[in-house]
Amino acid sequence: MQFSEFYTLLLLMLLLFLITSLIRTIIERRKAKKEQYKTRTLIKCSKCGYTEERDFQVGDYVLKPEKECPKCKTIIRIHRIYDVKVPKK
Ligand SMILES: [Zn+2]
Repeated sequence: MQFSEFYTLLLLMLLLFLITSLIRTIIERRKAKKEQYKTRTLIKCSKCGYTEERDFQVGDYVLKPEKECPKCKTIIRIHRIYDVKVPKK
């Protein structure tokens, strides 16, 4: 009798542990959803210092030749790629 009670208690504790860990996972996922990040690409002209920022596109990498500088007509390259926090809507 006592033996089975012990097992019931053990099973209950295990169930409680599973439920709490499940709840924790759900909360963490919700938090992760709240804090969304967006990748931005910064293009900078090494000659005149002209900068342009746009959304990250697939295939972007640092030092990738982007386009002609609208000011001095040199080829401008990707200077930096970084994440910015997107405010919750
Ligand atoms: Zn320039």
